[in-house]
Amino acid sequence: MKFVGAHVSAAGGVDQAVLRAHEINATAFALFTKNQRQWHAPPIKPETIEQFKLNCEKYGFGKQQILPHDSYLINLGHPETEALKKSRAAFLDEMQRCEQLGITLLNFHPGSHLNKITIDACLARIAESINMTLAQTKNVIAVIENTAGQGSNLGFKFEHLAAIIEDIEDKQRVGICLDTCHAFAAGYDLRTKEACDDTFDQFNKVVGFQYLRAMHLNDAKSQFASHVDRHQSLGQGNIGYTAFSYIMKDKRFNNIPLILETINPEIWSQEISWLKSQQ
Ligand SMILES: [Zn+2]
Ligand SMILES: [Zn+2]
Repeated sequence: MKFVGAHVSAAGGVDQAVLRAHEINATAFALFTKNQRQWHAPPIKPETIEQFKLNCEKYGFGKQQILPHDSYLINLGHPETEALKKSRAAFLDEMQRCEQLGITLLNFHPGSHLNKITIDACLARIAESINMTLAQTKNVIAVIENTAGQGSNLGFKFEHLAAIIEDIEDKQRVGICLDTCHAFAAGYDLRTKEACDDTFDQFNKVVGFQYLRAMHLNDAKSQFASHVDRHQSLGQGNIGYTAFSYIMKDKRFNNIPLILETINPEIWSQEISWLKSQQ
């Protein structure tokens, strides 16, 4: 099965996100379970949690089809003690929100060294943050996203992702979300079938497809290997349609959320129906 959807708005409550996903004929969706630009948020109301679960059941969204994204403020590899503590507390809150909602995946960007510690030290810190959070929660899988490598963001090389996984104590509860725009901007080509073969072979060798838990399907406004993160609608950017058709036809991408974070929500339903037609 292919599960396709978009990162929909949760304005008015997380239960509303489910309805928005259903409206665009999505079979998967992503959401923020709190305001992504603020540190603190009130707990989710019990009636909202109940409604979220009811809506998911009604519209057929199971655990493999829902991929929340954490706050952009969190840096699990922060070089400074106090800021790292703050990030870890916020990440734990994000994971507990998932638990309350019955969600088993939590997608996040690994972290940034801010030019104050080495790459290896930062990767070790990220793994330590994940281990600490997993020890305080149950069932939720930490889904690390590859990045474009903007600024001092880590996770732009498959080796970074492998190094973090290596240090995770419970390997059942760690996974990867591959973002096509980020991979392309980081220097992994996806413009032709051969390029896709090569990039995903590299991913398999370095990380392993058994860890692939989600994909973000984004074309790129940014140039190849530019380390610039700019999304574009499918087929309108520098990656082109081939990669997305390839992913839809390939069984290695079955049974995981395939999420659009493309720039025009108005055409998400068209993008979703195009993706479904490529299988
Ligand atoms: Zn993404
Ligand atoms: Zn991005």
